[in-house]
Amino acid sequence: MRNAASPSDTRSDRHEHPAAGHSVSTLPEDDTWVAQAACRDASPDLFFSDRAEDIRAAVRICRRCPVVEPCRAVALASGERFGVWGGQTERQRRRELRQAAEQPDAA
Ligand code: SF4
Repeated sequence: MRNAASPSDTRSDRHEHPAAGHSVSTLPEDDTWVAQAACRDASPDLFFSDRAEDIRAAVRICRRCPVVEPCRAVALASGERFGVWGGQTERQRRRELRQAAEQPDAA
């Protein structure tokens, strides 16, 4: 996903592969995990869709991804609004961020 540190305002801004589309500035210094992304050859449309079946398909890809943890961490740290990242849907990510904000010591 591009612009993870400064999430874009619209879903339609997302045209690239979720991991491969990261801009360098948004990735942790060690971004080698991106090369292992299970979604590298998947359609980004699955990851940035409103359709439940697409979202489920994206999450299934994430389940077999060896870099689910750094991917999720990047999305959470950057406040990524759109798409499936690290096996989390937008709703799940919002919930986790909200809970972290409510319980800052638990993070
Ligand atoms: S966890 Fe999901 S979105 Fe992240 S790199 Fe892996 S397959 Fe792609």
